[in-house]
Amino acid sequence: MSPAISIIGGGLAGSEAALQLATRGFEVRLIEMRPRRNTEVHTGSLFAELVCSNSLKSVRLDTGAGLLKEEMRLLGSILLDIAEQSKVPAGHALAVDRELFAQNVSRHIENMPNIRIIRDEATTLPSGKVILATGPLTSDAMMRHLQKLLGEDQLFFFDAIAPIIDADTIDMDTVYAKARYDKGEADYLNCAFTKEQYYDFVDALLSAEKHEAHEFENEFFNGDKFSFYENCMPIEEIARRGRDSLRHGVMRPMGLENPATGQKAFAVLQLRAENKDFTAYNLVGCQTMLRYPEQKRVFKQIPGLQSASFLRYGSIHRNSYLNSPKIMNPLLSLKVRPDVWVAGQLSGVEGYMECIASGLMIAKIVANELSILPEESIMGQLWRRLINIPEKGKFSPVNANFGILPALDSNIRDKKLKRELMSQRSLAAIRRISQICPEKLV
Ligand SMILES: Cc1cc2nc3c(=O)[nH]c(=O)nc-3n(C[C@H](O)[C@H](O)[C@H](O)COP(=O)(O)OP(=O)(O)OC[C@H]3O[C@@H](n4cnc5c(N)ncnc54)[C@H](O)[C@@H]3O)c2cc1C
Repeated sequence: MSPAISIIGGGLAGSEAALQLATRGFEVRLIEMRPRRNTEVHTGSLFAELVCSNSLKSVRLDTGAGLLKEEMRLLGSILLDIAEQSKVPAGHALAVDRELFAQNVSRHIENMPNIRIIRDEATTLPSGKVILATGPLTSDAMMRHLQKLLGEDQLFFFDAIAPIIDADTIDMDTVYAKARYDKGEADYLNCAFTKEQYYDFVDALLSAEKHEAHEFENEFFNGDKFSFYENCMPIEEIARRGRDSLRHGVMRPMGLENPATGQKAFAVLQLRAENKDFTAYNLVGCQTMLRYPEQKRVFKQIPGLQSASFLRYGSIHRNSYLNSPKIMNPLLSLKVRPDVWVAGQLSGVEGYMECIASGLMIAKIVANELSILPEESIMGQLWRRLINIPEKGKFSPVNANFGILPALDSNIRDKKLKRELMSQRSLAAIRRISQICPEKLV
């Protein structure tokens, strides 16, 4: 008889795990509550919907995100493959046409005869083997169930998403296409600010009205009032750190001179294509908690966006994750229910690719193909972070970066060389375990 498993949540982690296990002959029950019940940020019924940026970050091996992708490729990630088939131009980043990506993942899932799709909210954990992949916006009922099952060791916090505008409403005479320092294709549109325009924009951000947290968010909340992922910090919060913080960060003008005039701007805000047809653009770095009418007022002050029409506003939302090192055993399942594995953001990994990687790891654990990954690898370290109680402070979500890898034996100062060697070391370690059981790993 084929082994059976229930997977709750058809997001990034759940979809990867479902496809991996179905490919290995498992009978998969994939329980997804959309469209019967939606989250605060998902908009449709497709599997693997990207809720914020359409960028899966860099593919360069000298970045944590790039190394993670290469490890996942060696380990046979199915969603990475689908992402590459759905990509849009974005320089060194792997960005996808979000609709096409989700459609392709959904088609793969629907075409697997041994995946049974159940469109319903799971309010408790079913019996038998389960992968819980309900993400950072896990439904309230499931969170309450987990609270009862696991006690008070869960942490909750907030996150914010960037607006998307209609390309036809951008003033193309004002913005210009250019890659920073002309490295790669000129895939981004640039909105250049004069000094006066920049400070007016910052003032508008600082004085604009914000959303308050919802009642249900306060009910669950048990930490500092607002704490964000550093890379998803709302633009108004960055501006609050200092009037120049944006132009030294996400709006830095270096390498973005106007190619027609050679003129250097005081600050530059970049727009990134949302799809292959370039019909919509994302305001890079403009994740926000501002009220919708305020977003319209403030973001229209960006040069070139005075007539912008918003296809999606930025928003505030809850982001939940479990205190995994306390509640999980070394094979990433719950101590109180060893037949329940937790995958994706709810387990405490952070980021799209990290969630897919987590679904991949869990599927391989369930299929008895892995009991740990090499410590020299990003995935091996993500795994270890979820099961080792931190030496200092509380457990917080972890993403792919070189800082989580062990140091090299030799003391190399050149940062680029150091990263190259770390990447080589990681990929060699992953290849070594693939050689031990190649038919199982790839
Ligand atoms: C608003 C927001 C913006 C983000 N932006 C980015 C970004 O730009 N870049 C990045 O790298 N990461 C981002 N993240 C972090 C993270 O990478 C994504 O949230 C990612 O989609 C998480 O993947 P997942 O598989 O864990 O959960 P999800 O992809 O959210 O999938 C979970 C699925 O479970 C379903 N579900 C929930 N509860 C139940 C239930 N009880 N029963 C049945 N189904 C249920 C949901 O409908 C959903 O389809 C963002 C997170 C949030 C919340």
